[in-house]
Amino acid sequence: MRKAFLVAIVCALVALTAPIWSLGQPAAPPAAQRPMFATTKVEGTDNVYVFRYGNHQSMFVTTSEGVIATDPIGYGRPQAVKTYVDEIKKVTDKPIKYLIYSHQHFDHIAGGQPFKDAGATIIAHKRAKERLVVLKDPATVLPDETMDKKRTIKLGGTTLELTYVGLNHSDSTIVMRLPKEKVLFAVDFLPVGTVPGRGMLDFYPLEAEDSIKQVLAMDWDKLIPGHPGPGDRLGTKKDVQDQLAFLHDASEAVKAVAREGKCWEPAEKELKLPKYESWPGYETNLPFVIRRYCALWGRGF
Ligand SMILES: [Zn+2]
Repeated sequence: MRKAFLVAIVCALVALTAPIWSLGQPAAPPAAQRPMFATTKVEGTDNVYVFRYGNHQSMFVTTSEGVIATDPIGYGRPQAVKTYVDEIKKVTDKPIKYLIYSHQHFDHIAGGQPFKDAGATIIAHKRAKERLVVLKDPATVLPDETMDKKRTIKLGGTTLELTYVGLNHSDSTIVMRLPKEKVLFAVDFLPVGTVPGRGMLDFYPLEAEDSIKQVLAMDWDKLIPGHPGPGDRLGTKKDVQDQLAFLHDASEAVKAVAREGKCWEPAEKELKLPKYESWPGYETNLPFVIRRYCALWGRGF
C-alpha cells in the first residue's frame, strides 16, 4: 500500500516536471492523449494536408501531376519519414515530385532519403545547402536545387510560391505560400499562440521583426506552423501580429534592464512579461527569450 502510494507520488512528480518538447518548442498535449502521427486535410482546401509526427509537422500538397512535400521531420526517427511517405500514398497514387526544406535545422529536414528514393527533387535555400555541405550530417540528404530570393513551383494546376524573407529564426528560412488556397507554411519563426524557446538560440532579433512584417503583408488566411499550435489549431494573421508584439515587448523590456547592467543575470531570473503569462511555454521558455535579447542589448550581438 505504502509502496503504491510512493509510486503514485513519483509518477505525479515526473509528470509535473516533464520537460517542454524538443528544442524548446511549445508544449503539446501529452503523447498519451493522441496518436503519434496524424494526417489532416486543411479545411477549405481540396488538396492541402498537414502531416504531424510527434510535435513536428509538415505541409504536403497533392495535384493531378504529383505531390509537393515539405520537411521530412525525421531527426533521430527514420520511422517518421517512412510513415510520412505511406500517409501521402494513402491519399494519392501520384508520384512525389518535390521535397522542400523550410530551413536548415535537422529536427525538420533530417531523414529525407525515402523522398529521394521516391524520385523527389529536393529544394532548399542556398544558405541551407552551404551549411549542410560543411556539416555532412549522414541522415540529411543534400538539396538538389537551391533558391535565393524567390521561386515559384507550378504543378498540376497548383502554384506554390517560395519566398526568402530575410534573417529570422535562421538564415535560410523559406516561407511557402499557396496563393489560390491562401495557405502559408512557415516553420519555427512564427509559433502559433506560444512563447518561443530554445529556437531563440540562433535567432536574429532585429531582422526577424522585418521578416514578420513581410509575412503580414502577404495574402493568406491560414498559417501551418512547423510545430502544432494549442489544440493543433492553425494560425491566423492575428497570431502573427501577436508574435510580433511579443518579440517587440520582450526586446524593449530587456533593452531597459540591459542598460542598467542586468544581463545575463539577474535579467534572466527576474524579468517577467505578465501580459503573456497565459501563453503556453511562458514559464519554461521566457529565459531563452531573455537570453537572446540580453545578447543583443547587453552584449551588442
Ligand atoms: Zn528551427
